[in-house]
Amino acid sequence: MADIHGFLKHERSLPSKRKVEERINDFKEIYVPVDDKFTNDQAARCMDCGVPFCHNGCPLGNIIPDFNDAVHRDNYQEAYQILASTNNFPEFTGRICPAPCEASCVLGINSDPVTIEHIEKQIIEEAFLQGWVTPNPPTTRTDKTVAVVGSGPAGMAAAVQLNKAGHTVTLFERNDKIGGLLRYGIPDFKLEKEIIDRRMHVMKAEGIIFKTNTNIGVDIKSTDLLSDFDAVVLTGGSTVPRNLPIKGRELKGVHYAMEFLEQKNRQVDGQSAFNHEVITATGKHVVVIGGGDTGADCVGTSNREKASSITQIELLTKPPASRDESTPWPLWPMQLRTSTSHEEGCEREWSILSKEFVGDADGNLTGLKLIDIEWRLNTESIKTELVELEDTERIIPCDLALLAVGFLHPQHEGIVEQLKLELDNRGNVKTSKYKTSAEKVFAAGDMRRGQSLVVWAITEGREAAIEVDKYLTDRPTSILESKDSSKLMV
Ligand SMILES: Cc1cc2nc3c(=O)[nH]c(=O)nc-3n(C[C@H](O)[C@H](O)[C@H](O)COP(=O)(O)OP(=O)(O)OC[C@H]3O[C@@H](n4cnc5c(N)ncnc54)[C@H](O)[C@@H]3O)c2cc1C
Repeated sequence: MADIHGFLKHERSLPSKRKVEERINDFKEIYVPVDDKFTNDQAARCMDCGVPFCHNGCPLGNIIPDFNDAVHRDNYQEAYQILASTNNFPEFTGRICPAPCEASCVLGINSDPVTIEHIEKQIIEEAFLQGWVTPNPPTTRTDKTVAVVGSGPAGMAAAVQLNKAGHTVTLFERNDKIGGLLRYGIPDFKLEKEIIDRRMHVMKAEGIIFKTNTNIGVDIKSTDLLSDFDAVVLTGGSTVPRNLPIKGRELKGVHYAMEFLEQKNRQVDGQSAFNHEVITATGKHVVVIGGGDTGADCVGTSNREKASSITQIELLTKPPASRDESTPWPLWPMQLRTSTSHEEGCEREWSILSKEFVGDADGNLTGLKLIDIEWRLNTESIKTELVELEDTERIIPCDLALLAVGFLHPQHEGIVEQLKLELDNRGNVKTSKYKTSAEKVFAAGDMRRGQSLVVWAITEGREAAIEVDKYLTDRPTSILESKDSSKLMV
């Protein structure tokens, strides 16, 4: 336990952020570094709660009170050992996780929860700084080979774990660089890309083979992959975006959010050659359709491109400012979330239905016709229905519309169709204990569970690795789930 009186002595406090006027001129990380005392005091707030619900709130089952205690005692090396025993990539989750652990922190019942995400980031950054994160290749190799297809957090986690178990792992990625949405979805102001590269160097030194610019199903036939490897893990993500097929969708200036974000990520990386039109928010009236994380990333990026105005609209009702009684502690709270991108400036509107994209004679987008709506309970059908409110239809100026209304499912053409994989009713790859309907083929991450979170992708990659290892070794348990596995994982 950290400090029995810690939560009485210290208020919850997060590192300060760079001033908005400064940070919107670059894509660098937003938070200002803090000293150890700051973090150690925050860790001291972790109390002896008896049943730490944070373990359960975190899909990875991070052993949070133990690493908080070590940080409070200023023993970052011990904290790192504890953290790395359950989480392969705290440098990602410590930056961009929505932190379900904090939502279920016992202190959060009647006070502010412990700043677990910040503490996690400090532990891993100290570990890299001190040189504790060193390559740890397996001492013996099995004769088994595994292909992991897709290098997002799920594929990276599966690769690390299977390599630790001694199998020879090749990680295939169709993009030029690894990382999945961490690389070409999430902007640098949330996650600078050197953070991915730093981890990739460790993984390479541990013996994982990376094959980028390799689209499985196109460059290598899926059937060849099956004959060349003893097991295949599919971690291709949920890449098919949901469309908004209203009138005017074809106008110049209407784009999927990912078209915009991928291009911006490449530009920040210094790349300039694109195989489609360069999209820019500079000087434009930008409307972001969709109120989630992807939409917020479009807002932050548009501010950095100096858009004339930015409006983010959402079909659903505005959530309450604090935890709603429908999601009591320790559940993930339904409440309004204001990201650092929102702080940088944008209009946010809720209960808005987009009716039509409006354009000029040359086919350029000039406006968005929208209408206010209300969600009303139909007492006969007991269903909530969308009702358009009279006299609220209007056209707002818009010369760049970014569709951030979610993703449907993984791409079906290519590997999924070639291997005739069974799908669930949402179009994701159907599995039983991560095993797909095809022999020796497993799936994990967004490709299996649908659009989700980085922490879930890492969890799924780790859990799938256990199932793959059991399959390859023909044993009922895997070395990756044994009590001693923590030694393997650091
Ligand atoms: C804009 C945006 C912002 C987000 N922000 C957050 C956030 O702040 N916090 C959070 O927790 N989550 C966030 N998410 C969600 C999170 O990024 C995903 O849940 C997570 O990346 C899923 O990991 P994955 O490994 O399953 O798939 P992905 O990250 O999608 O990676 C899949 C990879 O597989 C590759 N691939 C696909 N098919 C093939 C093939 N046939 N051959 C070779 N390679 C292939 C793709 O190119 C891609 O690199 C965000 C998502 C988006 C879109």
